[in-house]
Amino acid sequence: MEFNIVSIFPEMFNIIKNYGIISKAIKKNIIKITIWNPRDYTSDQHHTIDDRPYGGGSGMLMKVKPLLTAIEYAKKKIKNNAKIIYLSPQGKKLNQKSVEKLSKISSFILICGRYKGIDERLILSSIDEEWSIGDYIISGGELPAMIFIDTLSRLIPDLIGKKKYIQEDSFYNGLLDCPQYTRPNVINGMHVPKILLSGHHAKIKRWKLKQSLGVTWLKRPDLLKIIDLSKEQKILLHEFKKDWKERKIKINLKE
Ligand code: SAM
Repeated sequence: MEFNIVSIFPEMFNIIKNYGIISKAIKKNIIKITIWNPRDYTSDQHHTIDDRPYGGGSGMLMKVKPLLTAIEYAKKKIKNNAKIIYLSPQGKKLNQKSVEKLSKISSFILICGRYKGIDERLILSSIDEEWSIGDYIISGGELPAMIFIDTLSRLIPDLIGKKKYIQEDSFYNGLLDCPQYTRPNVINGMHVPKILLSGHHAKIKRWKLKQSLGVTWLKRPDLLKIIDLSKEQKILLHEFKKDWKERKIKINLKE
């Protein structure tokens, strides 16, 4: 997978280039990250990359020409057709489903805005898709681009382990992940659920699915409205709700 990033802050990407799974993937030539700095494509002495917006108002806008030239240079360097993406709060909101679809694409050019953003004509003429990381504003497109790269890279086959590992994460099958525990067995009087120590794989699998359904019901009930639960899942969720009610009653009795 190839990521070409258009950004005035190339050093910010050292965070993902030098740490964790992305750095490993770069070393193994599974991922390639190239940064194109619009400042390198300016024609004035001060390498100006921003200008005042027409119509007044506060703040500055990124100049079109340096961005456009950076995109053209990136396109020339890429063998395959690249999807050109502008990281923007006005884009479609990224979620696991869209990430899975996007992960089938092999080359991207990611445009990182700064200041008040980029000229509308650049969006209309040169951008294929706009993607947002959520309904809030941050100062630049670099962090969203890093999030975009990280989440897509996790889906590259075998990059972070077996497919099953990724499939157990929250959102992959529409549910949240089940609670997780590691050693020691007891912390501050709190025990690891006995079933997890039983070695009974079928029962553990059932327990995990039940917890996953229950946690989703408790923390993100909105997710349950958009998936079709199987008969088994419905039974497990029903059991979880019953257990939960009883547990709550017990807590009340103790108080
Ligand atoms: N004036 C723009 C607006 O209200 O739509 C916001 C500009 S923002 C301060 C500067 C840049 O940060 C944007 O051009 C975009 O690249 C990036 N950005 C900010 N919030 C974002 C978000 N939620 N998702 C993706 N990119 C974002």
